[in-house]
Amino acid sequence: MPLEPQLATRMALFRELRALRFGAGKPDPHENLLDVLEVVAVFAGLKPAHLQGQGQYDEGTSIALAETAARHGLLVQRSQGFGEWRPRAYGGDLQFQAWMDGPERNGEWEVLWIYREPPLSNVIGEVVKGLRRPGEALGYPECCERAYAERALRVLEALENGYRNEHGARSTEDLIECALQDRPVAVDEDPDAGLAALIQAHPYVQFIACDACTKSRGSPAHKQNNAMRILARDLDPSFAKAIASGA
Ligand SMILES: [Zn+2]
Repeated sequence: MPLEPQLATRMALFRELRALRFGAGKPDPHENLLDVLEVVAVFAGLKPAHLQGQGQYDEGTSIALAETAARHGLLVQRSQGFGEWRPRAYGGDLQFQAWMDGPERNGEWEVLWIYREPPLSNVIGEVVKGLRRPGEALGYPECCERAYAERALRVLEALENGYRNEHGARSTEDLIECALQDRPVAVDEDPDAGLAALIQAHPYVQFIACDACTKSRGSPAHKQNNAMRILARDLDPSFAKAIASGA
C-alpha cells in the first residue's frame, strides 16, 4: 500500500530533517536546503526519488537522512555511485571516454536513494547500471537532463580535441596522460557561462533547466520549480525564502 501522506506527518518529517546537522562533506547550504525539500517532496508524492551522494557526500549526513526517512515510512536503498549519463555516443576516442567516466579515474563511492513506491527499485537499479536516464528515477524533465548531459559531452570532446591539437596527443595513452597532468586547453566558450543564471531561474529544483524551459512559463522545469516552491512555502515561508536567496 502506498502511504497516504498527511500534513501533520509531513510537517513532523520536515522538522526532523531541518534539525539534522549536515556534515563537513556537505558544505553547500543551498544544496542542503534542497536535500530537505526533496525528501519531503518524495514523501508528498511530488517526485519519485531523492538521490544523496552523487555530488557532495558526507557519510554521517547520509546515515541520518536515511534513518529519518525510514522512520517516516520512506524506502531507502544504497547503491554504488555511477558515471555521468551520456545522451549519445561520444564523438572521439571511446576508450579515452571510458577512462574519463570510469572508476579508475573517479574512484568508487556509495550513494543513497530515498523513495516511496517499491517498484521504483527496478528503475534505480537500471539507472545505476547506466541503462536508464537518472531523471527517470528523480523525476527530472528529459529536455533539461539531455541539454545538461549534452553540454558535458561537448566539453569532453573539446578537451580531447585540445589534447590532440595543442599537445600532440595521438593515442588513447597520450590522451590519458594529458588528462592525468591536467593539461590546459584553449576553449572557444566557457562551458559554465550562464549556468549560475539558469540555477537562479529555478532555485527550488536540483537539476539545471534547459534554455527552452527557462524561456517558457508552461515548461516542465517551470512547473516543477513552482510545485517545489509552493511546497517549501507551505512548510515554512522562511525556509522557502532561504532557498530562493541561494543560501
Ligand atoms: Zn527542459
